Amino acid sequence: MSKEPSSDMVRKGSCVCGDISLEVRGEPVRVAACYCDHCRVNSGGFAQLGARFPSSALIVHDPNSLLNSYTFTDTSSGNPKQKYFCRTCGSNLYAAVNVPDGEGIVSVRVPILDPKFEDKGLHPKIEGFPQNKPRFLEDLEKQSQL
Ligand SMILES: [Zn+2]
Ligand SMILES: [Zn+2]
Repeated sequence: MSKEPSSDMVRKGSCVCGDISLEVRGEPVRVAACYCDHCRVNSGGFAQLGARFPSSALIVHDPNSLLNSYTFTDTSSGNPKQKYFCRTCGSNLYAAVNVPDGEGIVSVRVPILDPKFEDKGLHPKIEGFPQNKPRFLEDLEKQSQL
């Protein structure tokens, strides 16, 4: 019996200062770009890109105990959500969603994972709160490049 090749996939990432690193195994349940108010502010951008995995797929290496969390309770689903970040550099690493009577889910921030974005195989296939998507995105490719 052979496993699906993709189930052995390991993606690694770290915060900006490098004190916290993580790895996630297997393929995500889903990859989404979310434009909700929490995600916009939390990401510091126009969308948060999250790859959802079962909690058991995530391994965090935090030798100096710098991982900090903040709990959102006013979520659209009503389920509390913890965001995890590095207390030294502030990098937004992942969120954990508590699903009653279910296995925990983590949403790993796609941009922190290696390698460069186009090579990750983690293109978002779902949009959350698309009504909040900025209209300028449609025109951005036509603009001059830095
Ligand atoms: Zn850091
Ligand atoms: Zn969101």
